[in-house]
Amino acid sequence: MSHRIAIAGSDIAFDCAEDQSLLDAALHAGIELPYSCRKGVCGNCAGGIAQGEVDGLDGASMRNETCLPEQVLYCICTPRTDVQIAPVSWHRVDPAARKRFTAKIFRNQPAAPDVSVLQLRLPAGQRAKFHAGQYLQLAVGDGSTRCYSMANAPHESDALTLHIRHVPGGAFSARVPALQQGDLIDIELPFGAVSLAEASTRPIVFVAGGTGFAPVKSILDDMAKRRIERPITLIWGARRAEGIYLRAAVAKWQRQWPSFRFIAALSEEAADAAGDAFAGRVDQALIAHCPALEGHELYCCGSPGMVNAVRDIAVQRCGLAAADFHADVFVDGPAVSAATAAVA
Ligand SMILES: Cc1cc2nc3c(=O)[nH]c(=O)nc-3n(C[C@H](O)[C@H](O)[C@H](O)COP(=O)(O)OP(=O)(O)OC[C@H]3O[C@@H](n4cnc5c(N)ncnc54)[C@H](O)[C@@H]3O)c2cc1C
Repeated sequence: MSHRIAIAGSDIAFDCAEDQSLLDAALHAGIELPYSCRKGVCGNCAGGIAQGEVDGLDGASMRNETCLPEQVLYCICTPRTDVQIAPVSWHRVDPAARKRFTAKIFRNQPAAPDVSVLQLRLPAGQRAKFHAGQYLQLAVGDGSTRCYSMANAPHESDALTLHIRHVPGGAFSARVPALQQGDLIDIELPFGAVSLAEASTRPIVFVAGGTGFAPVKSILDDMAKRRIERPITLIWGARRAEGIYLRAAVAKWQRQWPSFRFIAALSEEAADAAGDAFAGRVDQALIAHCPALEGHELYCCGSPGMVNAVRDIAVQRCGLAAADFHADVFVDGPAVSAATAAVA
């Protein structure tokens, strides 16, 4: 059985099955709402229910700590009646925007002891359109897929660069060091709707944990290419110095933007051994280096625990407006596949 879902204040309506999430039904109907993880963790899809009743999918809780009292997470809610939703924003998706490719690995380089930089080339003459900060889904071979953020800027659209941390026992990532030049990988992109306000000139703080640096690099390379000028701080966390694996990129941004601030936060390094780096976690580095965040925007990317810790500090202690906190959460496990129905 399905129910009709209408977007408040518009003439848009679409069907949603009782075992389908509101987000997946919207994506299937060609309507893009804000989202990232699609697993009820990041909070990007939080929005209002103006009329009707919804329930958590498979008994899941409909909310998490990122929701305002009147909001639910559209990615884990399903309708029980016809519903009117009041999303924070929405737009029609270009049906041709998401594509599948069989990409070829042309470079696979170790960047840190547990990180590989994987460069994929698309078939001749083909281009992958995406926005800085978006991710792709990669077929693992057992019928499931995994999500990886593009680390290159969108203008480099005939190739894609991924930063992949080797998760011990991970079905895909643990195999990455053995991937060879010429190996083929099935991918689909773009996914994710985290993006920075184009017209804003406000100061921006990026906080990345480990390979959470990948989408941040894409955004910063894109900003550099477009010569966007605004005060920028990057806090990049790793356990030890070797985990800050692309210092050349940081040096390039420092040359382009003389006021660019970079703080490496090393959680397992003693203060006397940390040198120029901050000895501690990224949330501790944030409060030490950015204690007043009123009027800023903050983009945070990494594991769920790290993103939650940074959100708490930024909003509760540093005065960041909750709406100015943007997160891309690297939730483990297979990707949720239903949004692929939006593929042309
Ligand atoms: C939007 C997004 C972007 C991402 N971008 C990146 C990126 O740029 N770089 C990067 O390194 N990683 C990224 N990730 C994480 C990535 O998608 C994989 O989850 C990660 O690489 C592990 O995959 P795997 O196949 O190696 O491990 P898996 O075999 O999936 O297992 C990894 C761990 O997760 C646990 N697990 C497995 N299934 C589940 C499940 N259903 N629920 C909960 N836990 C489970 C396992 O026990 C294991 O501990 C991203 C994730 C998301 C959601």
